[in-house]
Amino acid sequence: MSRAFNFCSGPATMPEAVLAQAQQELLDWQGRGVSVMEVSHRSPEFVAVVEEAEQDLRDLLSISDDYAVLFMQGGATAQFSTIPMNLLGTKRQMDFVDTGVWSQKASKEASRYGEVNIVSSAKESNYCQIPGQSEWQINPQAAYLHYTPNETINGVEFNWVPTTGDVPLVADMSSNILSRPINVNQYGLIYAGAQKNIGPSGLVVVIVNKALFGKALPITPSVMNYEQVAKHQSMLNTPPSFAIYLAGLVFKWLKQQGGVGAMEEINQRKAEKLYQFIDQSGFYNNPIDVSCRSWMNIPFTLADDQLDKQFLAEAEANQLLNLKGHRLVGGMRASLYNAIPEQAVDALIEFMKDFEQRCG
Ligand SMILES: *Cc1c(COP(=O)(O)O)cnc(C)c1O
Repeated sequence: MSRAFNFCSGPATMPEAVLAQAQQELLDWQGRGVSVMEVSHRSPEFVAVVEEAEQDLRDLLSISDDYAVLFMQGGATAQFSTIPMNLLGTKRQMDFVDTGVWSQKASKEASRYGEVNIVSSAKESNYCQIPGQSEWQINPQAAYLHYTPNETINGVEFNWVPTTGDVPLVADMSSNILSRPINVNQYGLIYAGAQKNIGPSGLVVVIVNKALFGKALPITPSVMNYEQVAKHQSMLNTPPSFAIYLAGLVFKWLKQQGGVGAMEEINQRKAEKLYQFIDQSGFYNNPIDVSCRSWMNIPFTLADDQLDKQFLAEAEANQLLNLKGHRLVGGMRASLYNAIPEQAVDALIEFMKDFEQRCG
């Protein structure tokens, strides 16, 4: 059985080399006669795994010492609550930009802890455009401004970074972290559930400016308190050790590929190829404004949705998996994260071409 091309939005494709290494080390890690998930998280050899993973991520994104890098649990969704608990301090208000499903989920959770102000919504364009910042109503009294740089379900991505003055900028980068270079210093906090571009689900990576410590609400559980978690090097309690180990292997793999600069080039090429094919076709359609089309998640529809089932079945028979779009959007979606090789996109386009010729 050979590896299929898996376009799943998440949990998503892992680099094959990482899976092979994990497989090879599973029974006997570092010649110790045990796997990495069977050793104490307090052991020097496991502490080294966490330290190396953190350092490799710092290298990849040029993260300065002003920021803590945390490996936490509960996925990105737990952060929807963890962030307000840690950043509200004595303030009550939070700003949110509504660009799609994930920003809505984030703001809904945050509203348990304070007052959510939607500074801008893409609803009018049916989430196909991102309103420019000149149209936003930013509140200078807000504890932070939250936005979702890549909307995984809608296929909308910012190619610019909001400027918020003294208001800390918080970004849910779950589906586009490490896909291109960023300037971490522009953010107060970045978080990313691991299962799209980093590793297994459940793990969430948080990059937080230490200047934001000391504002946690008294109700904040200690495993959710950034300052506490940082003080304990992400090991306040037993961490998801196997997931951190795998994330570390992915960071090393990314370094071998040439880092995020190299990934940017490849990701842009992969996405533009598919958009170009969709745009020239009279059969497939992507509704997103060209100024904010995602490189990571590309939704598309067929001219006749009666053909959707057949398209998916034939794609699967051709080892092109998980192309069904999210139920809220319909149609198809191809997720092209870092671990998706360019050949996968070529194979998908070939299949789509052939399908259009036969059924279009
Ligand atoms: C997948 C995703 C989430 C949810 O992640 P969980 O790990 O399931 O909590 C949140 N935000 C974005 C942008 C995502 O793509």
